[in-house]
Amino acid sequence: MLSNDFSPQAAVLWKKLPEDKQQIILNKVYCGQCRSAVTLVNVGGFTEGSSLVLQGSCVVCGKNVARVIDGLG
Ligand SMILES: [Zn+2]
Repeated sequence: MLSNDFSPQAAVLWKKLPEDKQQIILNKVYCGQCRSAVTLVNVGGFTEGSSLVLQGSCVVCGKNVARVIDGLG
């Protein structure tokens, strides 16, 4: 799950989430190219203020997709 590049701070925030919640988040990321909710793979992340920004690839088209999660910090 934490195979890609997570900054230390981002990893702490991400690990606060229960695994089922993590899965729900990763399985419903909007991809602008597919124009639908897709699964995010090769996930990494960093923090921006109190938000966690997840970055990864769309499992369908391979495009880089990011998802911001607020209110974790
Ligand atoms: Zn896509």
